[in-house]
Amino acid sequence: MSIATEEQTVVDSVEKRLYIGGEWRDASGGGTLEVLDPATEEALCEVADGTPDDAMAALDAAAEQQREWGQSAPNDRAGILWKAFEMLNERADELALLMTLEMGKPLAESRAEIVYAADFFRWFSGEALRIDGTYKQFANGTSRVLVMKQPVGPSLMITPWNFPMAMGTRKVGPAIAAGCTIVMKPAQQTPLSMLALGQILEEAGLPGGVFNIVTTSSSSKTTGPLIQDPRLRKLSFTGSTEVGRKLIEASASQVLKTSMELGGNAPFLIFEDADLDAAVEGALLAKMRNIGEACTAANRFHVAEPIQEEFSRRLADKMGALKMGRGTEEDVRVGPLIDQPSREKVAELVQDALDKGATRVVGGEIPDGRGYFFQPTVLGDVPQGARMFREEIFGPVAPVGAFGSEEDALARANDTEYGLVAYVYTSDIKRAIRVCEGLETGMVGLNQGMVSNAGAPFGGVKQSGIGREGGTEGLEEFLETKYVAVNL
Ligand code: NAP
Repeated sequence: MSIATEEQTVVDSVEKRLYIGGEWRDASGGGTLEVLDPATEEALCEVADGTPDDAMAALDAAAEQQREWGQSAPNDRAGILWKAFEMLNERADELALLMTLEMGKPLAESRAEIVYAADFFRWFSGEALRIDGTYKQFANGTSRVLVMKQPVGPSLMITPWNFPMAMGTRKVGPAIAAGCTIVMKPAQQTPLSMLALGQILEEAGLPGGVFNIVTTSSSSKTTGPLIQDPRLRKLSFTGSTEVGRKLIEASASQVLKTSMELGGNAPFLIFEDADLDAAVEGALLAKMRNIGEACTAANRFHVAEPIQEEFSRRLADKMGALKMGRGTEEDVRVGPLIDQPSREKVAELVQDALDKGATRVVGGEIPDGRGYFFQPTVLGDVPQGARMFREEIFGPVAPVGAFGSEEDALARANDTEYGLVAYVYTSDIKRAIRVCEGLETGMVGLNQGMVSNAGAPFGGVKQSGIGREGGTEGLEEFLETKYVAVNL
């Protein structure tokens, strides 16, 4: 099969309609929205453009199914998740190609995301069997207390374009395990992966109405009425802090339970005693995974003054050697950014840093040709006042600045309203513990450039979010606690 035919086959195999109440149907207004390949700027296909009526129909279906689903056997829920985990892995190659076409990341990274996404189903398949409660006495001995866990109820999920599959399964896995029904609204730029997930869950035996998908070009108009509907019991959002704030505000009127996985501004600290080879490798991973379009991307490198220059040069050698191109091409390590506004913002941040005195070690330009590409870039001597030290870059740009003491390093790291993740490279165990304790983040990569894992409680503090996804904590987000005081 030619490459173009293989791509067409994969795109053709995905449903383009809304998934509501176990049925695939067109949008009520008949509208469609275009999905683009960011590497060519050409249309891949069109999917249904859901309306507020469609979103409400999805909530109707979820609400109607909640009681029965909430009372289903844990074995059944675990079995569906396990089957879907296996199917995701069996179809990893096709799903990876689909993801690369709509999102742009290199095929190997898309494949890694499918495996990571599937892992949430494996993990929560086990957790579905371990939902328990406690039994205890009133302190004065008079009564007994039965504490039980119950599904929260119908949940709205809103996901971003940067990890089109994993940001879905990280929410859907625990919701299914807990017995919650779902209305899913994926990002309009990458709806295909989520629609493919809907097909997989349907084939895995998930009853109709448990998982509903509404693709739409008007996210606020379609999800707004759901957030005001008393039947909705949970909002789980992954995306920018700016949109997260609006959704928290909108959730206040129904006192809706929310989980918020928001933006990051990860510091990457390298102390003089660090293994510099390992730090450069970790930096490359933390910066370049997902073309720098990750909430966990190292956003700023703070390096001990005596090794700053050497680190910048070595990182620049590695980043400058990465092949840029369409993610489907052999050996490509840097795909396009998602769209033109994202690329413009990256270029603007680079210019701002250069204007404020940073030096260009490698890259810094928009290459000629189609696709939203930006060269892998390292900037040295970046001053603390540069915008890219405060704002999410979301692109393949590594700004490097120097610090003096350990205290100075910590102060710089914490000087942000974000608090998702930080990376620390040091071979001094006492310093490692001191710095990890002092960092105001939900996660730390200690001598490690990647932190994500299905069994770990992913999430941030400060304006990076509320709640955790993954691990036992991820399941708690979809459970309510009730106790019965028993008179003896
Ligand atoms: P975004 O603009 O906030 O969009 C995220 C999702 O929210 C999309 O589905 C979007 O729909 C929808 N949306 C936008 N405005 C909305 C509104 N007013 N009401 C309801 N839904 C709305 O973020 P993004 O650009 O897709 O993703 C990048 C951001 O996500 C970064 O800040 C990144 O750090 C963050 N992120 C965080 C994590 C984490 O775990 N902490 C993980 C991944 C990404 P449309 O498709 O219509 O825009």
